[in-house]
Order: sequence, then C-alpha cells, then structure tokens
Amino acid sequence: MPECVFCKLIEGTMPSHKIYETEFTFVILDINPANPGHCLVIPKKHFENIYDADNAYLEDAIITCKIIAARLKEKLGAEGVNIIQNNEKVAGQLVEHLYFHVIPRYKDDKVVIGYNKKEATEADLRDMEEKLSITAAPKQEPTKEAAEETTEQPKEGEIEFVEEVPDEEESEEKLRKWAFEEDY
Ligand SMILES: [Zn+2]
Repeated sequence: MPECVFCKLIEGTMPSHKIYETEFTFVILDINPANPGHCLVIPKKHFENIYDADNAYLEDAIITCKIIAARLKEKLGAEGVNIIQNNEKVAGQLVEHLYFHVIPRYKDDKVVIGYNKKEATEADLRDMEEKLSITAAPKQEPTKEAAEETTEQPKEGEIEFVEEVPDEEESEEKLRKWAFEEDY
C-alpha cells in the first residue's frame, strides 16, 4: 500500500514518534493529540478497517491498547483512558488503515468524545434484538497457523480449546515488564 501514510510510518519511510511495537503492532504518538500522550495503535499489516482485519492482528492490537493504557496511567497519571476505533469516514475514520486511539483522560480536561443519546422504546429494542441476535458463532476461516494446529488431535480426556489463544502469557509478561521497568 504505497499510498497509505500509516504503512509509510511503519516502514520508516516517513518519520513518526514511535513509543512501542510488537511483531504485529506499531504504536506512535498522535501529532494532533486530544491530550498529551494520545497514542495511535496500528496493526503492521494494511487493513482498511476492522471488517477485513485478521484476528491475530486484532488480538495483538487490543492487548497493546491495554499495555498503553497502563503506561499512560503509570507515567502520566491519567485518571481514565479512552480507546476509540472508527470505521469509515461517516464514523470518523481519517486514515484508511485500521487504528485505535488510546487517549489519556483527566477530570475537567475538556476533551469532547461523545454522541447524543436517543430514546428507544421496548418495541424498538425488541426489533433490534430480533435483527441482530447471533445464535451461532460466526464461521471463520482458520488462519494457516490455526489450521496446522488443528491437525494435532487432542488425546481422550484432554481439554480441547476451540479458540486459539496465542501468546497470552507472553503478553502478560510484556505488561509486567512495562509495569516494573522504569526505562523500557
Ligand atoms: Zn496502510
């Protein structure tokens, strides 16, 4: 994606203020922050938005948001954190490459993030419930790695995990590192 500004930042052909990265995710400071320390968490692979994003990248991105939120609280004394992800222009997406805002918040900081609440009747809610209820988990194409893993059949009596849970311990490890190391 040579035209994509985030891909250029990730490749390093355009400068950015990077504060963290993993195998899947790149984190930079937003150059127009809502508050100082406002970060953008960006998957390293080009996905236009959440609809077409690989789960492995999404998982790593949201875990990275958690790590950054902890960092903002620890280092900046943030009293709260917004994590915002917009899809398509109409929803406020400015760059056509999936990203998450992670914004430190403080009492009376005058940052405006919001929407106007509408009224919904019980009938409205029932109608939506009927339209939107998902009775079975959506079928997903297994990733190459997951497909390889499933060739290993669990022995009888062993617990079988239906969903792949990659690198959870590793990520916890990372979080601990962030929490306890002063100069990471
Ligand atoms: Zn891109």
